Amino acid sequence: MSNECVKVVVRCRPFSEKEKEAGHANIIKINKESASVELKDPKYILNNANASNNNINNEEIEQTSKTFTFDNVFDQDTTQLEVYNSTARPIVDSVLEGYNGTIFAYGQTGTGKTFSMVGDRSKKELRGIIPNAFDHIFSYIGRGGPDKKYLVRVSYLEIYNETIKDLLKPKSGKLEIKESTEIGLYVKDLSNFVVKDVQEMDRLMTVGNKNRSTGETQMNAHSSRSHSIFTITIEASELDSDGQEHIRAGKLHLVDLAGSERQTKTGATGDRLKEATKINLSLSALGNVISALVDRKSSHIPYRDSKLTRLLQDSLGGNAKTVMIATLSPASYNYDESLSTLRYANRTK
Ligand code: ADP
Ligand code: MG
Repeated sequence: MSNECVKVVVRCRPFSEKEKEAGHANIIKINKESASVELKDPKYILNNANASNNNINNEEIEQTSKTFTFDNVFDQDTTQLEVYNSTARPIVDSVLEGYNGTIFAYGQTGTGKTFSMVGDRSKKELRGIIPNAFDHIFSYIGRGGPDKKYLVRVSYLEIYNETIKDLLKPKSGKLEIKESTEIGLYVKDLSNFVVKDVQEMDRLMTVGNKNRSTGETQMNAHSSRSHSIFTITIEASELDSDGQEHIRAGKLHLVDLAGSERQTKTGATGDRLKEATKINLSLSALGNVISALVDRKSSHIPYRDSKLTRLLQDSLGGNAKTVMIATLSPASYNYDESLSTLRYANRTK
C-alpha cells in the first residue's frame, strides 16, 4: 500500500539528438497501466543481437530485466502540464489550504530534473512545475472572495558543500539553520520577498538562477553538485461570520537536487572528493528520511543527518505532502545510474 503523504513518480526523458546519432539502445520501458518501469540489462541486448539463431526463452528475458513499481510513471511523450496536473497540482492545492508540501526532482545529471522543475519558461507548453505553480497560485488567489486576503512570500537558497547560500541576496555569505520555540527551524538572515503577481515571482526566480553561477557551462557543473530550494509561503487571512480573523499559512518547497551520480567513482580527490561525499551524504540522508516516513513502523525520522533534511523537516512528514520525481535517461550507456536511481526511488516506497 502506498503512503498517501509521500508519493514517488518516475519520468523518462526522450533521447537527445546526439544519442540518436550515436545509436544508443533504449533500455527503459514505461508501463502506464501498472505504473511500472522495466529496466533492461544492456548486456542482454548486445547478446541478443549477436545470437540471432538462438531462441531466448521468456525466463531468460525476465532475468535480464528488472521491474519497479511507483505511484505514477511518465514516458518521453508526457507533457509538462500532465506532469504538473498529476503530481504538483494536489500539493499546491493543499498548500493553498494551509498545509506544507515539498516537491523534489532526483536523478543523474542530464536526465531532466531542471526541465521538470523549471523547464523552458519562454514557451508556455515547456514550462515546468515551478512556473506552473506560480500561475496556479495567483489564479486561485485572484478568485478569492472579499473577506479573504493573501500574503505570498518567496525565498530561494542553495546548499552547496553543506553550506547554505541565499540566491536572492548572494552577498550575505554563509547562512545558518537556527531553531526557536515559536517558529521552529528557520534559516537565519535568509531574505524573503513579498510578491503580488506571477511576474514578480518569475523575476525573483530569474535573479536566483543568475546567482547560482555565472557562465552557462559552469552552471551545469555547479548545479550538478548543489541542491536548490525555491520556497513559497502563502498566508491566507479570512473573516468568519463573527468578523473574527483567521490566518492559515502553508509552505511549498520546490527542490532541484544535486545530480545523483556517484561522484566518488569519478576519481575525485581533495576538495572535490570532500564535496562528493557531502552530496552523497545529503542524498542518502534524504532517502533515509523518506523511507522512514513511508515505513509507518519507524518512529525515528533521521532529519538531523544533513542540512537538506533539517531544512525541510517541517515540510516532510506529519501533515505535509511530498512528491519525489525521479528522472531517467532511456539510453543503455546510463544503465548503472538508471538502476541506482530506480533503486533509490523504490526504496523510498
Ligand atoms: P538535469 O537538470 O537533470 O541535469 P536537464 O533538465 O538539464 O537535466 O535536462 C538535460 C537535457 O535534456 C536538457 O536539454 C533538457 O531540455 C532535455 N530534457 C530533459 N527532460 C526532457 C523531456 N521530458 N522532454 C524533452 N527534453 C527533455
Ligand atoms: Mg539541472
